[in-house]
Amino acid sequence: MRLILLGPPGAGKGTQCKRIADRYEIAHLSSGDILRAERAAGTELGQKAQSYMDSGRLVPDGIIISMMIDAMIKAVGGYVLDGFPRTVVQADQLDKSLAEAGEEIVGIVNLRVSDDRIAGRLTGRRSCPQCGAVYHIENLKPRVENICDKDGQKLVQRADDTPEVVANRLKAYHEQTAAVVGYYEGRGKAVIDVDAAGGIEKVTASIFSKLDVLCSQVG
Ligand code: ADP
Ligand code: AMP
Repeated sequence: MRLILLGPPGAGKGTQCKRIADRYEIAHLSSGDILRAERAAGTELGQKAQSYMDSGRLVPDGIIISMMIDAMIKAVGGYVLDGFPRTVVQADQLDKSLAEAGEEIVGIVNLRVSDDRIAGRLTGRRSCPQCGAVYHIENLKPRVENICDKDGQKLVQRADDTPEVVANRLKAYHEQTAAVVGYYEGRGKAVIDVDAAGGIEKVTASIFSKLDVLCSQVG
């Protein structure tokens, strides 16, 4: 099964994609996570992406497209894409490369949440530098303050989750990413809208109920 999760930064894409990947036994391919891993490893790709990420701008399409297509080729049992495609050019290139491989995306989910809820979600986000688990200082607390439940590592705050950078990321979302929903609708693809303003469990239940139907249709 191949899925795409769309939505603004802080909508809950990463949180929900981890749950989707577990339930449907598919890979979770997050462009942001892959970029952060490249940076941590000090690769050329990571170095090229650094200034864009730190300022909240999108990394150029050419870099992202080849990086994600590589990751998709390796995910043989299916995947859910998180944070990609983020421009119409990326969506179009993704469509072309899927068509060449004779593959298709079976479900596109769009998490809807207003900008005023997003700032608090992002500035309160904490993540584990070791395993990537994501928490929130109020909405999803670890058992011990600031310590990862899974591996005991000290949680960190992402450098791009500051109010200034969040403002740039939201601007990039509205100017460059929001149009991806219209791109798919214009090509006759159903986009499943999910209200992501509620709590994490409520959003998960809503996504699962819709994807279970899809799953039973595609087998
Ligand atoms: P994205 O991947 O879309 O940027 P995340 O999944 O990392 O978003 O979520 C951003 C932050 O908001 C995290 O700290 C997460 O725990 C929290 N969060 C995610 N979904 C919700 C929700 N439905 N309600 C409240 N907080 C949420
Ligand atoms: P995320 O982890 O999804 O919030 O992404 C963090 C940052 O990585 C973004 O602010 C961008 O700078 C960069 N990034 C992630 N995915 C993409 C993408 N598909 N296209 C361009 N830049 C991206």
